[in-house]
Amino acid sequence: DPDTGLAPLEFTVNRNLQAKSAEQRAEILVNPGFGTSFTDHMVDICWSTGGGWHRPRVQPYGPLSLDPAAAVLHYGQEIFEGIKAYRHADGSIHTFRPDQNGRRLQRSARRLALPELPVSYFIQSLRELIAVDGDWVPSGADQSLYLRPFMFAKEAFLGVRPAHKVGYYVIASPAGAYFTGGVRPVSIWLSEDYARAGKGGTGAAKTGGNYAASLLPQSEAYENECDQVVFLDQDRNVEELGGMNVVFVYKDGTIVTPQSDSILEGITRDSILQLAMDRGHKVEGRAVSFDEWRQGVASGDIVEVFACGTAAVVTPIGMLKGRDFVDEQPIGELALSLREELTDIQYGRREDKHGWLLRL
Ligand code: PMP
Repeated sequence: DPDTGLAPLEFTVNRNLQAKSAEQRAEILVNPGFGTSFTDHMVDICWSTGGGWHRPRVQPYGPLSLDPAAAVLHYGQEIFEGIKAYRHADGSIHTFRPDQNGRRLQRSARRLALPELPVSYFIQSLRELIAVDGDWVPSGADQSLYLRPFMFAKEAFLGVRPAHKVGYYVIASPAGAYFTGGVRPVSIWLSEDYARAGKGGTGAAKTGGNYAASLLPQSEAYENECDQVVFLDQDRNVEELGGMNVVFVYKDGTIVTPQSDSILEGITRDSILQLAMDRGHKVEGRAVSFDEWRQGVASGDIVEVFACGTAAVVTPIGMLKGRDFVDEQPIGELALSLREELTDIQYGRREDKHGWLLRL
């Protein structure tokens, strides 16, 4: 690794003798859905106090053997990432800004008192999996292979302290187009009774507990016929959705997105904002109060609101609903145009000016 001077890990590859046949795989890849089918292999690397990162291997995808006292099952010391591999027209496979996901995994690790996986190992782990399971990257429109790196405390110990034994894994799941039949604006439910994160909490980390905390408010959203839930902080500033960041477009072309210590810093958002700046938009990361949102939409100052994240890329927000109000949201052109520019880069249809793609 040119930055850290680390030599690559020496992986052992144990081939899956029960790997799916080409026909079985093709059948799954026609209509993969999301998160239900998995490739034939997974990455598994151990970490221990004193031993560091060791025993790197690619092995058949399958159940993990875990001691019932494994710390993660009791105290939730777990972090993860989400990143896609895209197949280009020439058959090559690329991923998008993996260094950013690797660095975010390190920030999550720091907050959860887990060991920081070197970014070069993170990228190597994706490469090793694609080297054996590359045929699982679909080639249909808007399809991809979703890669899910994750790490957790596997030490069998019921004391509450950072674990001395940790596992890092990568699994992969073919993903279909998020929207079938075109991008559709989503409706958003305002969570009034539940917060996702607090000041000094784990909101900026990609850790399982944050998602556990979002499930009840997300059910409330469904009960109110909304697709997603938006969270506010204790001062009623807008934070984010359960799994996507929020972006506001003002009528003078300024783009504003909430900035706080308790939001997950999305790589999609960062990329979209960069593309917007390239087009000459002014971009601001700052606190956005919930009143600013509602009043901005009412007055016409806000001309577009959208959400962004790896899974759905960019989705316009068409409606905001709370216990005692329903606000239609203005629909503009910018969200979809930025979405198209970003996906064109990811799928190799447009020049990658920022050097964001990495061929796997
Ligand atoms: N916020 C949350 C809570 C998320 O889970 C995600 C998805 N990783 C995002 C924002 C968007 O991040 P990214 O663009 O890196 O996928």
